[in-house]
Amino acid sequence: MKKGIAFFLFVITFSITMFADSIVEYKVLSCDTLSLIARKFDVYMETILDYNNIDDPNMIYEGQILKIPSEDGVFYTVKEGDTIGYIANMFFTTISLLLGANNLVPSSTIYAGQELFIPEEIMYILEYSSANSAFKWPLCGVISSKYGWRIHPVTGEKSFHEGLDIAAPEGSPVFSSKNGIVTFAGENGGYGFMVEVRHSNGFYTRYGHLSHIDVTVGQMVNAGSILGRVGETGVATGPHLHFEIRCNGNSATLNPLEKLPSRAVLVYSEKYSGSMNAGGE
Ligand SMILES: [Zn+2]
Repeated sequence: MKKGIAFFLFVITFSITMFADSIVEYKVLSCDTLSLIARKFDVYMETILDYNNIDDPNMIYEGQILKIPSEDGVFYTVKEGDTIGYIANMFFTTISLLLGANNLVPSSTIYAGQELFIPEEIMYILEYSSANSAFKWPLCGVISSKYGWRIHPVTGEKSFHEGLDIAAPEGSPVFSSKNGIVTFAGENGGYGFMVEVRHSNGFYTRYGHLSHIDVTVGQMVNAGSILGRVGETGVATGPHLHFEIRCNGNSATLNPLEKLPSRAVLVYSEKYSGSMNAGGE
């Protein structure tokens, strides 16, 4: 009889451990904030926001059920035509690390709809050589419209394009270009869902048309922190990122291609070097 109880307790303990090893469900309390919940579960806010596909980080409410992975990172749903190599590039990581994180081997096949987990520590460990560049690429994609005068793709009128458009499939991860503090995260007219980050020396960056946002205002981010996912919210003709580098205390824009490194070679980066989070109490 006692043996039976002991075995029963063992089974219960084992199941709880297994459950906690993957994803826990949490019901939001009236006094909860995202940062409190993140602290409670020892994960980044980005992990919670991304996993729950929350469009607006200000919109969490009492009684809401949040799913919280036990490890920091994001999920990616494989699309038709994706390869492991392409997904690795998208997350600025290596094929072997991506395979390892998902218990796959080089001969494994992936299929549309499959969920891959990209742990935080393997994201953005590769970057384009940036010896003289203060900013890093926010997204792996194709430049679809440059900074400067152009015929607007929606209005058909001549207008000044204040940023760089980088096209990539909906759901591709968007990373912070430099360390800083999030000053805007939400809907902003033609930008759609937009994140703005303030950096040192009066520089700001903006990330527009996101499908959802993974950060909140006031949050510190590093170069390579995930900010959200590519979408086509606001005024857009297809999924892409509108990326702006602003200067003079946010009053003017400049050509991002003048500040970004050449995209010729991907190199290993020292993750979080030059982090603003360094320091003591
Ligand atoms: Zn644009």
